[in-house]
Amino acid sequence: MSEGVAVRLEDVSFSYGEQAFSFDVAFPETTITAVLGPSGSGKSTLLNLVAGFETPRRGRILIGDDDVTMLPPSARAVSMIFQENNLFAHLDVAANVGLGISPALRLTVADREKIADALARTGLAGKEKRLPRELSGGERQRVALARALVRNRPVLLLDEPFASLGPALRDEMLDLTISVQKERGMTTLLVTHHPEDARRAAQRIVFLENGVVAAQDEAHLFFAEKSPEAFRRYVGSEQRPAQSR
Ligand code: ADP
Ligand code: MG
Repeated sequence: MSEGVAVRLEDVSFSYGEQAFSFDVAFPETTITAVLGPSGSGKSTLLNLVAGFETPRRGRILIGDDDVTMLPPSARAVSMIFQENNLFAHLDVAANVGLGISPALRLTVADREKIADALARTGLAGKEKRLPRELSGGERQRVALARALVRNRPVLLLDEPFASLGPALRDEMLDLTISVQKERGMTTLLVTHHPEDARRAAQRIVFLENGVVAAQDEAHLFFAEKSPEAFRRYVGSEQRPAQSR
């Protein structure tokens, strides 16, 4: 098992024009933390800072004991899965997973075994020769998860990875992610706009509002009687449209 390591943002400031972000928050090792918050609150920005797609104006980002603030994404001990477009359209499933081991796809026999294991673990055995367009949306996200498995990095960043899937498939994929995380112990940041996903998957919740952490605690406390005020407002506003559906 590749134990996870803690992820810390220390006094991190960042901005997109007028929109400022300020993060001072730690994600404990080997746990799943759900990152929740309204659209535009900075969830993706937070993950992009950890992954290295954005660089803070001030502050430090630590992965384990390593200060990665100035490192490029490729030098960081993370894997990231986005809502869509995780795969290369012209490469088959096995190659898309293989990229997690070798960007030039120079793969040893042992690497090919790892790829086969990851495909089996994610329910994709028999589909290794398919192109992304020959897969369902759920299968494509399984491929992305299989790639993260072979990369075997201690930190896994998930930016609404199942948001474009229907509810049943979303639950299934979430369960797969939870069981894989249990086996590997990666420190996982799961962005979702479904509080239910957080309740199901996460030990902790970090709730963002307007570019800052408005609340953070153990997940069960967000669903208890004295849940954070900002979170309650958010859940209220999310549930109304869902009920009228
Ligand atoms: P979330 O993922 O919580 O919906 P984001 O982190 O994507 O929010 O965005 C936070 C804010 O930053 C939004 O107001 C968004 O418009 C702005 N923003 C995000 N990415 C960029 C960018 N590349 N350039 C300029 N503004 C951006
Ligand atoms: Mg986002």
